[in-house]
Formats: sequence, C-alpha cells, structure tokens
Amino acid sequence: MTFSGPIFDTHAHYSSRAFDADRDALLASLPGQGVVGVCEQATHSGDAPRCLELAHRYPWIWAAIGIHPESLLPAEDCGDEAPAPTISVYGGDWAAEMKALEPYYDDPKVVAVGECGLDYHWPVPKDAQLALFEAEIRLALELDKPIIVHDRQAHADVYALLKKYRPKGVLHCYSGSAEDAVWLAEQGMCLGFGGAATFKGAKRAAKAIEALPLEAILLETDCPYMAPEPVRGRRCDSSMIQYVGQYIAQHKQLPAEQVFAQTAANARRVFGLE
Ligand SMILES: [Zn+2]
Repeated sequence: MTFSGPIFDTHAHYSSRAFDADRDALLASLPGQGVVGVCEQATHSGDAPRCLELAHRYPWIWAAIGIHPESLLPAEDCGDEAPAPTISVYGGDWAAEMKALEPYYDDPKVVAVGECGLDYHWPVPKDAQLALFEAEIRLALELDKPIIVHDRQAHADVYALLKKYRPKGVLHCYSGSAEDAVWLAEQGMCLGFGGAATFKGAKRAAKAIEALPLEAILLETDCPYMAPEPVRGRRCDSSMIQYVGQYIAQHKQLPAEQVFAQTAANARRVFGLE
C-alpha cells in the first residue's frame, strides 16, 4: 500500500547537485507519496535563485532565503569544494550579501529567513558567524517571518540569542536536551526532527520527542543528507519522512496518522500558510 501522508518536509535542499540527474522526475513523484509541502532552504546568494525557481515551479514548495554559517568558511578550509559566494563574491562581507538578498523577501513564496545559525564544528570565524546570525534574527523580526536555525555544537550561543530576541521559527535537526527543547517550545520555537533522530544511539532526540507537545514538533529531511533508519546511507528525499513520523508516533504512543496530520498543520502555522 502506498503511504498517503500527509508529509510536510520543513527542511530540504533540492537545489543540491545530488539531485541534478533526476530532480524534476523525483519532485514530480513526491505528491503521489504523500508529500503535501516542502520548505526548500537556501544557504547563500548562489543557491537562493535555484530555491526560488523550485518554489515557483511546484505549488507545494516554499522557500527560506538566508545565509548559512558554513558559507563563511574561508577558502583555505574548503578542501576540494569551492568557497561559497559569501567568500568568493562578497569577500566575507555578509552584510552586503544580505542586502543583495533583500528583494527575495517580497516574493510570496519566500516564507522564512534561513537557513542560518551557528556552526562550531567547522573552522568558521566565530565573531563573523555570531554577527551574521544576529543580523538574520533581527531581519526575521523586522519582516515578521520565522527563522530557520542551524545549531551545530553551538547550543549555548544559539540559545542566548534566541532568548534575547525571541524570534518565532524552527530549530532544525534538534540535537539538544529534552529540558532545553521544552523551554524553546514554551518560547514559541518549533523543533525539527529528521533522519538523525532515528539513528541507533540517538537517545537525546527520543527524550526530547517524548517531552515535547506534538504541536511543537516538525518533520524534516535535510535532504540529500540524513536518510532515516531503515534507509540510512541512501540519498534522502521527503518521502522517507514516513519513517521519522512512525518513529515519533512510537515514542509518543500516538497513532502515526495523528503525528503526520498535526506536524503538517504545525508547518502551515509556522510558515503562515493557513
Ligand atoms: Zn539544511
């Protein structure tokens, strides 16, 4: 039997090169697999136009436009990869790049500011990423749009800024404690869970899922990465969220249909699509 959803994938990167060979065929197949919505995430001025193009081509895709902290990674730390336009075009002047992205927020299909946040895993200069993240939070407040937050090994600094500004939005691929998840939800943030939550040993995610009200939980892929168990290691796409929803249903002892319906409603509420 075909899975009927509804799946709302709140965090995807279909503009990634990993989808170049079959992007349109794959995207066209998703509604038939229960996918009712996707929020496609830009990471800098280079992929932003591609994200918006996808949002215009497919009525069920929306876009978040912003600058990811990894886009500030200096050229010498990029290995085989080319540095992001934040470095190669703007020479690290993220404020100028933000200015160039401004017109995007007038587009009705742009529903959030992101993907942005803090990443202390990669050698991204700390002062620059803190200043960029703060500027993007302020922009989200000014535009009255939700913010999509990436937090990798930077919990304390991310939470301090969220506490200071109290934006609405999503903490994506949540990896913090159950206790922090609950206060973040009380403050009005939603927490995104994807494939990583289903990995063996991901005990923290299970505890956070159990502690949170279902109204604060969102489903996501972060595709092409993070395919959930039992398809871990494969290229991920939004249809695989069925496994994440089932995992959450088990941990919350709720019917899976209720988890899919409520999390899709949550996504529409956060992105203002009601
Ligand atoms: Zn992402």
